[in-house]
Amino acid sequence: MASFGRLRVRDVVRRALTSARRDLLAGREVPSFEALVDRALALLAQAGTPAYPPVLNATGVLIHTNLGRAPRLSPHLPAYLALEFDLEAGERGERLSPVSERLVRYFGCEAATVVTNNAAALVLLLSAHAAGRSVVVSRGELIEIGGSFRLPEIMAAAGASLLEVGCTNRTHVADYEQALAQEPAALLVVHRSNFNLSGFVAQPPLADLVAVAHRHGVPIWVDQGSGCHLDLAAYGLRRETTVREILATEVDAVLFSADKLLGGPQAGIVMGRSSALEPLRQHPLRRALRPDKGVLLSLAATLDAFLADRTEEVPLYRLLGEPVSRVRARARRLANRLHRSGVAASVTPTRAVLGGGTTPDQTLASWGIAIPGGDEVALRLRRATPAVVARREEGRVLVDLRAIFPEQDRELARAVQAALGGGRVSASAATE
Ligand SMILES: *Cc1c(COP(=O)(O)O)cnc(C)c1O
Repeated sequence: MASFGRLRVRDVVRRALTSARRDLLAGREVPSFEALVDRALALLAQAGTPAYPPVLNATGVLIHTNLGRAPRLSPHLPAYLALEFDLEAGERGERLSPVSERLVRYFGCEAATVVTNNAAALVLLLSAHAAGRSVVVSRGELIEIGGSFRLPEIMAAAGASLLEVGCTNRTHVADYEQALAQEPAALLVVHRSNFNLSGFVAQPPLADLVAVAHRHGVPIWVDQGSGCHLDLAAYGLRRETTVREILATEVDAVLFSADKLLGGPQAGIVMGRSSALEPLRQHPLRRALRPDKGVLLSLAATLDAFLADRTEEVPLYRLLGEPVSRVRARARRLANRLHRSGVAASVTPTRAVLGGGTTPDQTLASWGIAIPGGDEVALRLRRATPAVVARREEGRVLVDLRAIFPEQDRELARAVQAALGGGRVSASAATE
């Protein structure tokens, strides 16, 4: 009780007793007093694990939704801060304006705001502009993103009705033009996250859609999702349309997730024309969707790094910018260390991915180590401290270094050693 606290001890004793009663009722052998104590102690040990255990991300997926998406900057959060307080005037200030101002400067838009995530951004935009009205979307863009983000359902939840146009593979300007006769609240273009369409496909250039929408006096919005804002070719990936390029077509609003390619915390960003943004500012949902102070601090720090041209300070871009020759050298060192402790690990080239539905079907050059084995090895690695989440691949487990920060290498080696060392995993061909 001195080390765990009375409430926790009471809780695990009750749980141990409950399981013993269940054994009794089921006609199983009733555990001895000592076995009951052991059970309670085991539960206590579990209770000591953190609610969200830290993980070494050896999956090679940089924006891994299950592992917290983009690694974010975490500036020190003071006990109190001038969050919505104007220190000069000594009066209430605007909570979101420091972040909005940075977004406006970095992206060169008229106005910007921040909510809890991109799904919330879409809900807010639809609620403020399209409740009880229709919104035009191509049938090729009615997407589902993991974790129950389905575009038609989000629209319904926001009280807007869907006006589908075109076909799954082909949508033309004329399809949108026909729909515009029905006086919709807006045209919505959605980034195809998580998948690609290829073959007999057609999609009008965004500039043509903007022209046709504005000719009818209807706003046009782009759910860009990924928040791509830099030339990805610099990192060995195919170029993607950036937020700035989308804004340059004079769309009314662009929305995206801050924890995908922006490399920030979880947040949803809406930017564009003041006419699109102003109704959001006044909408009652805005208050319900406002981000936490820690998120705002992290987002502001991320934007400050980009504004000062210090991209490499943003953790995601540090990982992406690590030269492949260095990743390879690190993989070699790791394999050598593991060999010395009796773990068979061979250095191997791998393909990493950005993930988060940002650049479907594209891969990044990377290196890692391959350990012979399957589920059993992967489970032992996940049970290590810190947990190592690796990738399974035909008879071997791949520990990809692309999403491991160099300063984590030692910790990774120690965790893998502790999980698999001591000769439990037999050495096998360790070639490169
Ligand atoms: C990721 C994504 C979303 C959802 O964003 P969250 O921040 O997870 O709510 C919505 N639309 C597109 C196109 C996306 O890629």
